Amino acid sequence: MSILDINSQRQQPLLSARSRSGAYWNEYTETMPRDQLDKLHVKRLQALLRYAYDRVPFYHDLYQGVGMAPEDIRSLDDFNKYVPTIDKKDLVKAQAANPPWGDSIALDPDYFIYHFQTSGSTGTPLRIPFSLHTQIQYGEQWAYLYWGVGIRPHDSFYFAFPWGMYTGFWSAYWGVRCLGGTVISGGGLTSEQRLQQIELLKPTVLVSTPTYALYLAELAKELGIDTSSTAIQYTIHAGEPGPGIPTTRQAIESAWGAKAYELYGVGEVGAIAPGCPEQRGCHFSEDQGYATIVDSSGNPVGHGEVGENVVTSYIQMAQPVIKYRTHDLVRAHYDTCSCGRTWLLYEGGVLGRTDDMITIKGTNVYPAAIEYLLSDVPGLGSHYELHVTSGRLNDEVTVKVEPVSGISANSYLQMEKSLQQVIKAKIGVTIGVNVVNPGELPRYELKAKRFFDHRPKKA
Ligand SMILES: [Zn+2]
Repeated sequence: MSILDINSQRQQPLLSARSRSGAYWNEYTETMPRDQLDKLHVKRLQALLRYAYDRVPFYHDLYQGVGMAPEDIRSLDDFNKYVPTIDKKDLVKAQAANPPWGDSIALDPDYFIYHFQTSGSTGTPLRIPFSLHTQIQYGEQWAYLYWGVGIRPHDSFYFAFPWGMYTGFWSAYWGVRCLGGTVISGGGLTSEQRLQQIELLKPTVLVSTPTYALYLAELAKELGIDTSSTAIQYTIHAGEPGPGIPTTRQAIESAWGAKAYELYGVGEVGAIAPGCPEQRGCHFSEDQGYATIVDSSGNPVGHGEVGENVVTSYIQMAQPVIKYRTHDLVRAHYDTCSCGRTWLLYEGGVLGRTDDMITIKGTNVYPAAIEYLLSDVPGLGSHYELHVTSGRLNDEVTVKVEPVSGISANSYLQMEKSLQQVIKAKIGVTIGVNVVNPGELPRYELKAKRFFDHRPKKA
């Protein structure tokens, strides 16, 4: 190739050597039968445990403390039973004892190409180092999503995001590099400037939080811009639940005239679960990690049940994460999905946090279970809030929800009754419903606050 041959340099993807066909970025792993996937997990977990034990004092001491050595783990059962789980606070503590990195890293910091950190919304921020290898692998997890939903190297991506110290959309950016598409950065711009760029430069993919996609569409309407007639064909989301909730997905899709997809990521672990192309939830990328969904005693839950997602990364080699409690509640589906993937499906995406669990008359209810049902009542919109208070014997829940525009206030009472009946029929609990006027609930730019927990804090 001559250096002057400009055409041959156009949009070279980072991972062009990998073979891919049809609907899959990597058909071989995405459709691998369960028994083969499990064999692969055992091999990779053994190698990872050895890597961490030999290189990371944090894991060496942890495993020695429980009398476990890497060679003791010979099956997934062994791994689930004998390897101790860790929590974010363990890594935060290790970093605080010896800043900035503590004894939980496996590489010399000379190898780090990025320093990220978590938002700190659930406590002290955790610092997250990336090596180049780690970053490209994180990016590839996004490429699984892009390719799976039909995005190709000729597409262009508009990042409506301020970037910052968060891993999420930086990894989404590296996903575009893996795919070979074009990046247009909306960093540092106002929402109005972003809309102007979208009209002028005609990107085909919008990358943002789900809340921001809705906010941008509402602002566009005020400015007389019709977002459904822009060139955007796909909207891609992360950072908060959204496209997994039917009312939110429908609102985004109709505002942008596009298909909305999500990726479930955990900053310190990876972009772990690209959304299912058939919008059934997110598939854990099983060639880059291992996940177990457990009940409150730490035992794996069965197919179709809800539990906490505990994950291990095969790609975060700078600061390994092994049996890491995410505190995210997910529903486990192990059957082959209708999209053809054999990878574990988190049906409906992330359903809530373990701390958000509500107990009503002995029934455990997670907030998303209520949110999903909003779309069962015609006329209810995508803006809502859940308020939980402690009653005398039980938690009490009230949902405030806006109707879509154009609904008469005379119908509010009927809509409240209908939603109560749907929730009673499907979850078996009674909650308060309050339909409020359109525009009454606050709007958010980056992430929406929908869950308001007024219960006394647990000690
Ligand atoms: Zn699927």
